[in-house]
Amino acid sequence: MVLNTSEATAHLKTYAAKDGLDVKSLIDSSNFGGLTYNDFLVLPGLINFPSSSVDLDVKLTKKITLKAPFVSSPMDTVTEENMAIHMALLGGIGIIHHNCTADEQAEMVRKVKKYENGFINDPVVVSPDVTVGQVKAMKQTLGFTTFPVTDNGKVGGKLVGIVTSRDVQFHDNNDSKISEVMTTELVTGEEGIDLATGNEKLRSSKKGKLPIVDKNGNLVSLISLTDLQKNQDYPLASKSFHSKQLLCGAAVGTILADRERLAKLVDAGLDVVVLDSSNGSSIFQLDMIKWIKETYPELQIIAGNVVTREQAALLIEAGADALRIGMGSGSICITQEVMACGRPQGTAVYNVTEFANQFGVPCIADGGIGNIGHITKALALGASAVMMGGLLAGTAETPGDYFYSDGKRLKTYRGMGSIDAMQQTSTNANASTSRYFSESDKVLVAQGVSGSVVDKGSIVKFVPYLFNGLQHSLQDIGVKSIDDLRTNVDNGSVRFEFRTASAQFEGGVHGLHSYEKRLHN
Ligand code: GDP
Ligand code: GDP
Ligand code: 5GP
Repeated sequence: MVLNTSEATAHLKTYAAKDGLDVKSLIDSSNFGGLTYNDFLVLPGLINFPSSSVDLDVKLTKKITLKAPFVSSPMDTVTEENMAIHMALLGGIGIIHHNCTADEQAEMVRKVKKYENGFINDPVVVSPDVTVGQVKAMKQTLGFTTFPVTDNGKVGGKLVGIVTSRDVQFHDNNDSKISEVMTTELVTGEEGIDLATGNEKLRSSKKGKLPIVDKNGNLVSLISLTDLQKNQDYPLASKSFHSKQLLCGAAVGTILADRERLAKLVDAGLDVVVLDSSNGSSIFQLDMIKWIKETYPELQIIAGNVVTREQAALLIEAGADALRIGMGSGSICITQEVMACGRPQGTAVYNVTEFANQFGVPCIADGGIGNIGHITKALALGASAVMMGGLLAGTAETPGDYFYSDGKRLKTYRGMGSIDAMQQTSTNANASTSRYFSESDKVLVAQGVSGSVVDKGSIVKFVPYLFNGLQHSLQDIGVKSIDDLRTNVDNGSVRFEFRTASAQFEGGVHGLHSYEKRLHN
């Protein structure tokens, strides 16, 4: 008997379950082995909304929300201040590596925090008797060129003028006093005004800076027009609610010296610390979490790495605000080969997040993210965000210079457990050896490799590609946000399919003589 087509959707009810597998059945279907991202697919859903409306807000930690679920890895070939600034501008966050001295790392954090501001509460100020030459030199070291001038050269002193690059640029006598060239007719804002009012005054006065003064004319803070422009150019930026400064993360180890390191990072304005260990379930990390919670209760802690719920439980109980999941899944990593420890990343993400999400502890899937599909799958399995090393390596914002080999423009990308990284000598407490518990080893056992990746251009184009791609991917699944994805995976309405080896072959480009794979324009 042929059924009436108008009853097609009603007929679905005669089936015991929806087509495909729920997430638990997917993971159980592989009880002969662990799954990773390429081993499964998400089944498509109903599209009744534009992809541009898909909301990618996520919790990075218990207290920090991001507009994009992207985190750059604390690796010395991935995240220094330039990467961290741009990841935050584009809605994610960068975690600054610690394979450097504490002072160098703190300076990088400071640069991220100073990059954008609401009220600049500690502006660099000069006194009237500094010279034109000194101000020109300050421009070189600080990067900005406008300085309020106060009678005592400090914030809190009486505002007597402002000096900008235009005042000194074409002034040949470097010995002249600033008081001779500074602008003294000032438009100011009164202490206590809100930022929007200050911004409006700045706009209407057509000035670049608005000094804020108290009733007696003493300098309190400064507002910069450049910051309004930055706010307009990067609407997704991850910023502190009040200060409007970019959010910044940094990694530390768990030895005693890391407590001093962390003090410097917190002083520089750090928002979130990553406890960087290949195996987070150690007594060192548990002690470190407790100490941080007592010493810096406001600082958010991402603990890890973990791949089992038993490891997760220890860190959650100690006070972790988020977990980082992955052992041996990174593109530069040889841990599974050498240590026999680790877990396929899909199974690790599912098992840890299924446990941690019950306690409201967000999880970051770290390692093995090679494309947008992997990001969607990590989120579908329960992660709140993904951490990327290899996918961001080779972009303009990573540390290091490009070089040419075989006609290709390349950058170095190396594992933090590679011999190269472990032998970095700029610091006594090498971050790489401490990450792999190898500080006292005479013979270093590598857990990563050192290599190169091709030039990927700037993340200013690449991260929006990931963002738009992820929106399209969730649209295909039929969910309007990452929160919806979580709800609909948990209640079984988002379905999955296991992928055989030949299905994986079919899902890749095949049967062509040659082709070019361009990922975005
Ligand atoms: P200018 O060269 O001083 O006019 O500055 P820009 O227009 O290039 O912008 C300066 C940027 O640096 C803004 O985003 C400020 O928020 C930031 N900044 C951070 N600290 C300071 C400071 O102490 N003084 C100034 N002028 N800018 C600061
Ligand atoms: P937004 O306009 O969507 O960013 O809304 P917010 O509530 O964050 O901003 C409140 C006010 O602060 C608005 O007038 C914004 O234009 C302004 N604002 C936001 N970010 C910055 C910034 O980084 N610097 C300055 N000076 N103003 C900002
Ligand atoms: P990717 O995004 O390149 O696949 O993986 C990056 C992640 O690999 C990092 O965030 C970090 O957790 C991990 N990782 C970095 N260096 C090493 C290493 O040398 N060995 C191992 N086992 N993992 C590494």
